[in-house]
Amino acid sequence: MSELAIQPVYKRVLLKLSGNSFCRSGESGITMAEVSNVSEQIRRIHQTGVQLAIVCGGGNILRGRDFAAVSASIQAPTAHYMGMLATVINGLALQDALENVGVPTRLQTAIRMEGVAEPFIRRRCVRHLEKGRVVILAAGTGSPFVTTDTAAALRAREINADVVLKATRVDGVYADDPEKNPHAIRYSDITHQEVLRQGLKVMDAQAVHHCMEQNIPIVVFNYQKPGNLERVIAGEKIGTRVGNPVRDA
Ligand code: UDP
Repeated sequence: MSELAIQPVYKRVLLKLSGNSFCRSGESGITMAEVSNVSEQIRRIHQTGVQLAIVCGGGNILRGRDFAAVSASIQAPTAHYMGMLATVINGLALQDALENVGVPTRLQTAIRMEGVAEPFIRRRCVRHLEKGRVVILAAGTGSPFVTTDTAAALRAREINADVVLKATRVDGVYADDPEKNPHAIRYSDITHQEVLRQGLKVMDAQAVHHCMEQNIPIVVFNYQKPGNLERVIAGEKIGTRVGNPVRDA
């Protein structure tokens, strides 16, 4: 696929990058080679003119629920705030990696930390997008007990994104765990309602609910296959599309 050939089918996209896209498979922490790899893919879609906001996860550093479960002296909300701060660490890494390949960015956080990033202000975020800056959204929702998937869905609603792209290491949504069941069927299209009814692990239920309420499709795809992010942006049928069966792009 040549760099200039892609015509984006979306105007504004919310990309959810989980913490595990910041490290090697099976590892934790941050590996800048992985972050650079994702950044290069983002650079390529940025030059199509698509407006791009990115919500970072933090699971490569700390997940609140898991950390609280193994740490008797930590209160659950504290652990969740630690998780939110982890997403800011990832956001900073992503910002530098993107700027290193020439992509203009802004980092906005749901927890104020003026010395590090702008606060999330919806109108300001939209303005940055209109000016062609990639906006990295960190610190989730700013409130404990939810995930960055929910933050991604909420922000998608707030900024009127046309689609939520959920970057994963699997090829889409399966009827069963493809790692345990090699015969598991992959859905190419499925509705939000069906995802919720079957309890499929796409994004958490709150996130799917938010997208369903505003009729925002979710595309779940394997970001590790070269060119996949571009193909999704170009409207190719990659991975699984969660949404109404009608064309909405
Ligand atoms: N978190 C939170 N509120 C939010 C978003 C995230 O408390 O609005 C915490 C939560 O503890 C979560 C952690 O931040 O486990 C890291 O985010 P997440 O687990 O969603 O990261 P991912 O799985 O995408 O890497």
